[in-house]
Amino acid sequence: MIIDDQHYDVILIGSGPAGATMLQRLASAGKKILLLERGEAMPLQDQNVADVELFRTDRYHPAEQWFEADGDLFPPQMIYALGGNCRLWGGVLERMREREFEGLALQEGPTADWELRYADLAPWVDNAEALYQVHGRTGVDPSEPPRQGDYPHAPRPIEPFLEELRLGLQRQDLHPHDLPHSWTDSGPDPSGDAETFGLAGSLDQAAVTLRSSARATALHVTPSGNEVRGVEADINGQSWLFQRHQVVLAAGAVNSAVILLRSANDRHPPGLANGSDQVGRNLMKPQLTSFLQLSAVPNSGRYARSLACHDFYWGDKNVSFPLGSIQNGGGVLQDPLFSESPPVLSLVTRLMPNFGLEQLAPRSVSWWAMSAVRPDPHDRISLRGDRVQVSYQPNNREAHDRLVYRWIDVLNPLEADPLTQVVTPAPAHPRSEAPLSVMGYACGTCRMGSNPATSVVNLEGRSHEIAKLTIADRLVQELR
Ligand SMILES: Cc1cc2nc3c(=O)[nH]c(=O)nc-3n(C[C@H](O)[C@H](O)[C@H](O)COP(=O)(O)OP(=O)(O)OC[C@H]3O[C@@H](n4cnc5c(N)ncnc54)[C@H](O)[C@@H]3O)c2cc1C
Repeated sequence: MIIDDQHYDVILIGSGPAGATMLQRLASAGKKILLLERGEAMPLQDQNVADVELFRTDRYHPAEQWFEADGDLFPPQMIYALGGNCRLWGGVLERMREREFEGLALQEGPTADWELRYADLAPWVDNAEALYQVHGRTGVDPSEPPRQGDYPHAPRPIEPFLEELRLGLQRQDLHPHDLPHSWTDSGPDPSGDAETFGLAGSLDQAAVTLRSSARATALHVTPSGNEVRGVEADINGQSWLFQRHQVVLAAGAVNSAVILLRSANDRHPPGLANGSDQVGRNLMKPQLTSFLQLSAVPNSGRYARSLACHDFYWGDKNVSFPLGSIQNGGGVLQDPLFSESPPVLSLVTRLMPNFGLEQLAPRSVSWWAMSAVRPDPHDRISLRGDRVQVSYQPNNREAHDRLVYRWIDVLNPLEADPLTQVVTPAPAHPRSEAPLSVMGYACGTCRMGSNPATSVVNLEGRSHEIAKLTIADRLVQELR
């Protein structure tokens, strides 16, 4: 093992939205930082691509195979690159709602109380929206939480045919709003992400060292077992040990848990920071169903996700539990999430066998239904030998099904509306759920709370058990 003789104030593991945003803050505070990232920079031509290449998703995904609970192997859809999973994302930055922190009552029961409130985090979310140049408009979304002022930037214009759909939805007394979106001023790659707003401007500072192709394999602790001492990493097949003052684990929901589980030692047999047995548990993936509508006028197939409808966010007539969010998908040739869901495509190509993707795109409009799930300790990441195992059964299914059927009840009259000329009636709306392999949306796995017996980190994201170890996810810890 090679022992690095440098001493860093902070070793950051992972450069996704969590790690990159943290880096931006720490670097501007003058800290000496080592950033370990297992991937490399993704070439510009591969980012936010707007063509059929996007559908060759294996081009972007690692050559890993993970286990499902029943022992089948699957290739996870994860991006290991500078900037993490947001290198190919939608760029939509929605806020959580006040009630979602308070043990929200879903159809199958309450979610956990965060012990933090919206107001505790709102100032930090303001900072994050400014940093990520979020474009949006307040006062339209009926579910939106309170905020200090308007978004930092007004929404960018959307495709004209979507404006017609917006009017059609309004005629049904719905309240479609512009999705809050991170945008840059750059022509070739206008969608904002962690590389643009977190890494750029930080990596060229003298006190910041980046080691890419550096996969953190384990955290080491001091002889007492109570404090993190350093990070072991594999760089080009060689084992390295880096030493620190603080370690921030920001490797994403799956890999942060994996690193802690792989760091098991005599003093911490179930894994590091895992006295509560909660590391890897409470894995959550939002339920995602995509729909296709037939378009009556050609569109480019190359536009970002634009509109959302939150009229069913908290329920519906005679439904007292939350259903979720509807977003129009981006153009079929540009929406990375759409390309991550092969079953939709295969269904469509079965229904329209003579059409290739280039032909399908201008004739279709896509929508996404998204519903929350409850944290369940049985849904978890664990290790099976050297591989990752994902045991996952989505819950809150009835709420999601209701949202899907409710949205079909919106699409049918939209197509029949004589004032809406841009979509055409269809006997069915092809739809499909995102498969298990879509893991880039995963969250949970290192529960936060004030009770060390039931949580991994405290309300500041610091390990209850291991001093100088922070676990960052992109949601909460970004700017703390
Ligand atoms: C197709 C798609 C579209 C999406 N669109 C949106 C959207 O519009 N809005 C939204 O809010 N969210 C969206 N998401 C979800 C969003 O991308 C993730 O929630 C977010 O990237 C998580 O950030 P993170 O920093 O916690 O983890 P990640 O982005 O997963 O970053 C983790 C980083 O750690 C690195 N890493 C992992 N293991 C190691 C290791 N052992 N050693 C060193 N480095 C390691 C990885 O390479 C990666 O760079 C989308 C996801 C997908 C897949």
